Amino acid sequence: MPKRIAIVEDEAELASLIDYNLTRHGYQTQILRGDKGTLEELERAKPDLIVLDVMLPDVDGFQLCREIRQSQAMARTPVIFLTARGDEVDRVLGLEIGGDDYITKPFSPRELVARVKAHLRREQMDAEPAVTGIGPFRLDRTGRRVYVGERELTLTSTEFNLLEFFLSHPGRAYSRDQLLDAVWGQSHYVTPRTVDVHVRRLREQIEGQPESPRYLTTVRGFGYRFEDTD
Ligand code: CA
Repeated sequence: MPKRIAIVEDEAELASLIDYNLTRHGYQTQILRGDKGTLEELERAKPDLIVLDVMLPDVDGFQLCREIRQSQAMARTPVIFLTARGDEVDRVLGLEIGGDDYITKPFSPRELVARVKAHLRREQMDAEPAVTGIGPFRLDRTGRRVYVGERELTLTSTEFNLLEFFLSHPGRAYSRDQLLDAVWGQSHYVTPRTVDVHVRRLREQIEGQPESPRYLTTVRGFGYRFEDTD
């Protein structure tokens, strides 16, 4: 099932550029002009993600986002704001509007597609079961705890997120860039080296012999893999 994305944007040219790029990446799209009935249209369409312009002719994008958050059907739907000026960013971040991300115009379609992908993936991970067990590992998402056998690990938030990602995708190799994208998302202050540092710390916690790991192994010239021990 293709993911459905609502594009709320009154500038026809920009709307069709976004539409073209999302469609090309396999998403099913719907363009809304952002006039008075937009909230009702969104409630009917129940999109998986909303790209929302701030400057709309009849409604304020921020106000619309607040209404989206109050709507039962869309309270958890990711919203990515399109803002025209940097100072609007302060409003997105400073007020509790409920947006999940923002992009400042002008932006590259590639950047938008990357953000859309990242948010939809996060949604999917949220929908995964509360407890995942692989080999001796048991991960409790709700309580954010991880056990190896009976022993509970003491992990930082990022280490937890990284281990959660590995445990959710056993047996698959990931490059450092893929891991950055999946675990760190839109943080700008990380480099591929960051992944190595966190992998090393994780190994110290989960491996009997961190220098010759059994679970979290290195894929030479590529990245890392969590061995499927089941
Ligand atoms: Ca506009």
